[in-house]
Amino acid sequence: MQAEIVSIGTELLLGEIDDTNATYLCRQLTGIGFDVERRQTVDDNRGRIVQVLQEARRRSDLIIITGGLGPTPDDLTREALAQVTGRPLHTDGAAEQRLQAFFAARGITPTANNLKQCQVPRGGQLLYNSCGTAPGILLEHEDCIFIALPGPPPEMHQMMSNDVLPYLEDKVKEAEGQILYTRTLHLCDIGESSAAELLADILDNEGNPAVALYASPGQVRVRMSTKAGSQSAASRRLNRAEQDIRQRLGAHVYGVDDETMEMAVGNALLAAGATLTVAESCTGGLIASRITDVSGSSRYFLNGYVTYSNESKKRLLGVSEGILEDYGAVSEECGRAMAEGARQDSGADYAVAVTGIAGPTGATSDKPVGLVYIAVADEQGTVCEEHNWPGTRQQFKQRVAQMALNMVRKRVMGLV
Ligand code: ATP
Repeated sequence: MQAEIVSIGTELLLGEIDDTNATYLCRQLTGIGFDVERRQTVDDNRGRIVQVLQEARRRSDLIIITGGLGPTPDDLTREALAQVTGRPLHTDGAAEQRLQAFFAARGITPTANNLKQCQVPRGGQLLYNSCGTAPGILLEHEDCIFIALPGPPPEMHQMMSNDVLPYLEDKVKEAEGQILYTRTLHLCDIGESSAAELLADILDNEGNPAVALYASPGQVRVRMSTKAGSQSAASRRLNRAEQDIRQRLGAHVYGVDDETMEMAVGNALLAAGATLTVAESCTGGLIASRITDVSGSSRYFLNGYVTYSNESKKRLLGVSEGILEDYGAVSEECGRAMAEGARQDSGADYAVAVTGIAGPTGATSDKPVGLVYIAVADEQGTVCEEHNWPGTRQQFKQRVAQMALNMVRKRVMGLV
């Protein structure tokens, strides 16, 4: 089935916001077996929205629209949809009651503009918005499905997972007898070409599941996909393929599907019943921030030290004056001392420390921009790795944080 995406909003064309909704929708739709053939962006102009939708409905089975469902006069998606399908708008009584209750609970009287959000083209259905006021719209018209979703990403995401994806999966199954199931493995500390070499025969072979390798800055993913009539049939095939891939890639696989590196670290620490502290110089708190992105991280994360100056490395982590003078703050000796000092001060089972030169300034004749030391201390001792990752400051910080977390994960799991 063919799908296209229409993003509505003048802000998108002014370059003020990135169209992350379209990226998300492409991923979700291809994930269940749609061919996404076009993505378009249009400003808040009713004539142009109508024109884009008219063209799209002639060629696609599904059109997903995001944005323009709010209460203001420049929110025109609803009206455009009514015009394109020739189905007049009417007010949905249940949605109006919900909206009235929403405002009453906040002691506000809704305006006529607010109530406009409860209108739907005849024959269409409103989709409940659990984190905002603008309902979505689902409308089957002739041989085309129109789905309009609110612009704010959190509202759009919840509507997709609660209502739209289950509905679309049923449609694909109806049309094709089976749907596409996918599973993605996330890799770390291995480049695309090395991973491709280890998986060469699986990637070449047009097997079932199909296996493909994807790389984007700082991350490599292996995606398995199979069409099946049921989840259990798909899971059996995906499990077999996953086992084979894990055997070849070993510790390089850190997560599956939505599992991030910080979740993988948390799971490893929980399984080991262990705690963690971090001592950060060049990442400025990014590692601690990522760890605490995971709900429940207080069960294993004790504290963090952002020790940017030499003075704070000495005072908070007990790094000696001698190390700083003899080797400098960006050195293996300093990295090790930071990890050991943090572990001792916090009482955590594991401590990870990073010290490096993020650039663009700060390089010396023997220490280039991109040089970093990452150390992990635990009761067995301290390990330290040296890397050199020149790039932008942001890329460097992201990469160091990812590798530091990965070192903790491997150490806790007994892989290094
Ligand atoms: P609401 O009334 O709930 O805000 P809406 O459907 O009218 O919903 P818009 O007014 O079009 O949504 O957009 C609201 C906000 O959502 C934008 O200011 C922007 O922050 C975000 N947004 C809109 N479209 C996109 C997009 N394609 N990608 C990422 N963010 C978006």
